[in-house]
Parts: sequence; C-alpha cells; structure tokens
Amino acid sequence: AAAEVRDPVRSALESVLDEVRPRTGGEVASYIPELARVDPDPLGVALVSVRGVVHEAGDTETHFTIQSVSKPFVFALALDALGLDEVMRHVGIEPSGEPFNAISLELATGRPLNPMINAGAIVMSSLMPGDTADEKFDAIHRGIQRFAGRELAVDEAVFSSEHATGDRNRALAYLTLSAGTLGSPVEVATTAYFRQCSISVTARDLATMAATLATGGVNPITRERVISEDAARWTSAVMSSCGMYDESGDWLLRVGLPAKSGVGGGISAVLPGQFGIGTFSPRLDAKGNSVRGVAMLEAMSARFELHLLQHR
Ligand code: GLN
Repeated sequence: AAAEVRDPVRSALESVLDEVRPRTGGEVASYIPELARVDPDPLGVALVSVRGVVHEAGDTETHFTIQSVSKPFVFALALDALGLDEVMRHVGIEPSGEPFNAISLELATGRPLNPMINAGAIVMSSLMPGDTADEKFDAIHRGIQRFAGRELAVDEAVFSSEHATGDRNRALAYLTLSAGTLGSPVEVATTAYFRQCSISVTARDLATMAATLATGGVNPITRERVISEDAARWTSAVMSSCGMYDESGDWLLRVGLPAKSGVGGGISAVLPGQFGIGTFSPRLDAKGNSVRGVAMLEAMSARFELHLLQHR
C-alpha cells in the first residue's frame, strides 16, 4: 500500500490537542441561555499559512458564534473605510486593563479606550457605512466573509438573545453617544453589533481571518485583497496590546502573538508574514478567554518559538 504522507504540521497540532485535552477547567459563557447550552467539549485548532495551506486537527468544522473575535476585523474595516485619524477621533488604542464589558471612556475625549472592548467595538460598528442596522450589519457581514473567504450564517437564536438581554451594551453605547463618539443612534449601533457577535464560524475560519492579517490584508485562500497593508498592521498592533482584555499584558509576555478571544470559545492569533491560527474550546477562564485556547497558543508559542519579540 502507498505510504500515507503525514503532514508534520498536523501531527504537531494533534500533539498540542493531546496536551491540552485534559484541561477541563473553566465554564462556558452563561450570560444568555443559548451559550450556556453549548457542548463544552469540542477542541480544535487550525493553521492557515500566508501561502494558503491549511493544517488542522480536532473539531475544526464545529460552528460557534464569533463574538468578540469579530472586533479586530470590524476595526480593520473601519480603518479602511474612514482612515486612521477619523477612527481615532472615535476610539483610543490603549489597553484598558479592564474586563470586556467595562465602562471605559477617556475623560478628556469621550473615546472608549480601545476597539477590542465592547464600548469601543460598538462605536466601530456604528461607524460602518449605512444608516440602518441592516445596512451597517450588511457591510460588516460582507467584510467578515471576505476575511473568512466564504459565506457565514448568523446564529439567529444567539442574536435574539443578545438583543433581548443587551442592556449593558446599550448603556455603554449611550455613554459614547452622550460623549459624542458614537456614529449612529444607539439601537442602530447595538443591533448591528449583536448581529456581528452572532456570526457563526469555525476554528478554520478564524485561522483564515488571522492569516489575512498575516499576509498584510490579502486572504491567502481566495487571494482577494480585503483591507490595506496599513490597516492589517494597525489591527495586529492593537490585538497585541488589547486583544485579550485584562489578560493582554500577561499574554504578550507568555505568548507574544497578536490575538483576539471571544466568549463563544474562539481565539484568532496572527504571526505576521507566516500564518494565522484559529482555536476553539468553549470553556472560559474568569476573564472570558478560552482556557484550552490559551493553553494551546501558549504551548505552540513555546514549542515552535513563535514569540514575536524573541531574538532571531
Ligand atoms: N456578545 C458579547 C457581549 O457583547 C461578546 C463579548 C465577548 O466575546 N467578550 O457582551
């Protein structure tokens, strides 16, 4: 029989899965029943190179909601639509050191501290082209699909629940409205944001999206330019400083890769010029980051010497 050609990267990813599989600590997100009900056990990792080669292991086709992993990609779309100066009139780029749903506004300017926490992300959604929530969401959806290189459905049950229970996010939006940094009425911004969080993705999608940042803005599978090189670099920069909420400093020290987590259990991580990584495991730590996702990226960074700031 012909010898089966083993993909060495896949074998390496499988060994990372084996290493973290016993770590069953943490809890699935429970702020809405739809997320509290998800199967806590799936575990997957995908890696997409800047040449468009896909390596994957474990549950990389299981769908989950993108949640906050959407934030850097919408920030990138806003940068391309409006330019850095205009975006920065509405949002800062400093780590907040606070949880994702914190009341975060700079006193002098009324800007949320950064676009990776909810207040800043809602402002980014409000800046997308269009007047209605549908139009803004459509621009977001089309953009996210270009990052992923395929059509993505919305999980309508998660969306209805986010919309029904999202008063804290509405409150954050009202604060930015009164401070003059929100770009639309509150209900338009938050509805677009809730739909954005409810887009259904796989670990492989998150890897492709990160790989599109790693190439400097070209989706390596469809070869389509999604955003400018500047927007890709700026987005990776803000992911490095702010992507893991109040765990961002620790993350930069231990893992050293721009990354963004979401309460659906996904993480997207970028090694610029090399590849994107997507991980999926729904149990979260106290900060809302996937326990096994963090463990996988820590293990990969150490084992394959991925830390961006290491001496080469
Ligand atoms: N839908 C969630 C929220 O807005 C997303 C938060 C997250 O993934 N950290 O609260």
